[in-house]
Amino acid sequence: LEQLVTDGFSALGMSPTVGVLLLIFIATITVKSALVLLAKKQVGYTVARVATDLRLEMLRALLVSRWQYFLKQPLGGLANSMATESTRASKAYMHGIIMIADFIQVVIYAVIAFLVSWKVALVTLVAGLMIFFVLRRFVQKARRAGIRQTDVLKSLLSLLTDTLQSIKPLKAMARENVSDLLLEKKTKRLNKALQKQVLNKEFLKAFQEQMLMIILAIGLYVMLVYWQMPLPSILVLILLVSKLLKQLNKVQTRYQEMVILESAYWSLKDTIGKMELEREVLSGSKMPELKRAVRLKNVDFAYDDHRVLQNISLTFPAGHITSIVGPSGSGKTTIVDLVTGLLKPQQGEVWIDDQPLPQIDLKRWRRIVGYVPQENLLLHDTIMKNITLGDVNLSEKDAEDAMHAAGVWEFVQSMPQGMQSIVGERGGKLSGGQRQRIAIARAIVHKPKLLILDEATSALDPQSESAICETLLELRGQHTILT
Ligand code: ADP
Ligand code: MG
Repeated sequence: LEQLVTDGFSALGMSPTVGVLLLIFIATITVKSALVLLAKKQVGYTVARVATDLRLEMLRALLVSRWQYFLKQPLGGLANSMATESTRASKAYMHGIIMIADFIQVVIYAVIAFLVSWKVALVTLVAGLMIFFVLRRFVQKARRAGIRQTDVLKSLLSLLTDTLQSIKPLKAMARENVSDLLLEKKTKRLNKALQKQVLNKEFLKAFQEQMLMIILAIGLYVMLVYWQMPLPSILVLILLVSKLLKQLNKVQTRYQEMVILESAYWSLKDTIGKMELEREVLSGSKMPELKRAVRLKNVDFAYDDHRVLQNISLTFPAGHITSIVGPSGSGKTTIVDLVTGLLKPQQGEVWIDDQPLPQIDLKRWRRIVGYVPQENLLLHDTIMKNITLGDVNLSEKDAEDAMHAAGVWEFVQSMPQGMQSIVGERGGKLSGGQRQRIAIARAIVHKPKLLILDEATSALDPQSESAICETLLELRGQHTILT
């Protein structure tokens, strides 16, 4: 190797003086820094894209999944997948690729070591693999702690969102401490998992260093005392051996980092896979019109094992108001969800005029439906946005007309920023009745053919209720109304 270097210098017409060597050092380090910068930038960008791609993949799968799948999802779990799992998964990817880069360096060091002395190189590699083997339990333990972190984060966030969604009764009846305790317990479990990760990471590092020193000490002893090699050769060999071993250790350290985060990737992939299986089937292509009637024909429906509707046949004639009356839990909301196609009957069919719903383009059908749900949860946005739902085809005038009809215009006018006022989280800054009227305005702003009001006046005083009923009576004829 020495000869090779000397020959190389003379071929370039330079002599390997200290000055020249140092200059070459500085030049190579500069080039190296530039390359590392470039590579790191590329790695950073790629990692960000991995996270983005995972998020988009999940978002797409989520938005096209069936309604019944949504019903079973803890919202916090989904938020967790979107935020922490995708980030952790992309970091796992980063550690994975850096591990590969580190491994390539191991190969390069090993080749150089073999050129210098194949015996020493072989012994070093065997020693390095031995370190891998002896220390693998710290990797496994870290992996288990990572899995626990993934699980706890998911359940913690599910519990947190669930609690926050019903925080008012919890606070009003001073029961928040129950969820507090649960949340605290989970947070502490998370802390434990994090501690285990740190501990195993540090253990690995500490033992790697210690074993490296032991191996180097033994090597030094053998070379100095047994083989009585000259010191300069020993120094070169020791340098090489320690470089190679340290590089091998780096590979294991990266591997450990990767497996700590890996479970987040699998959890996210699992979620996405399940969502894709739950994809809503949009089979139909026919244009819905609603000129005559919406019909339920011999419909059976059950939520899993819970039978709600049995052999139900109903007709909602176009241009009329039809009311379904019944005690709570009798299946009124279920009927509405069947009409909008959110739920599919197990037996029988829903017909729009003379076409069964499965043959109709469901998206188009839903676009001509105006729907006021039983629980009026608004978006944390302006009143305008809450009414148009971001539809750019709807103007302020449309929104104003809808608000007049819903009897909420005067109230909105009295707000400091009018239609641009923010309604607060889930509409929390408005009264129940005001929220309900905004929801009604939202349902009629696009002049739907079928207007569905699911107990839409339950939060209104008798006067407002009768005012809205008047409006509905006026709307009848142009619209089909189902209440
Ligand atoms: P209503 O609107 O008439 O008060 P629903 O149609 O909401 O009644 O519910 C009818 C029945 O179906 C109730 O007994 C209720 O417990 C049950 N149910 C409603 N939603 C679900 C669901 N997602 N999973 C299981 N059972 C449900
Ligand atoms: Mg209901």
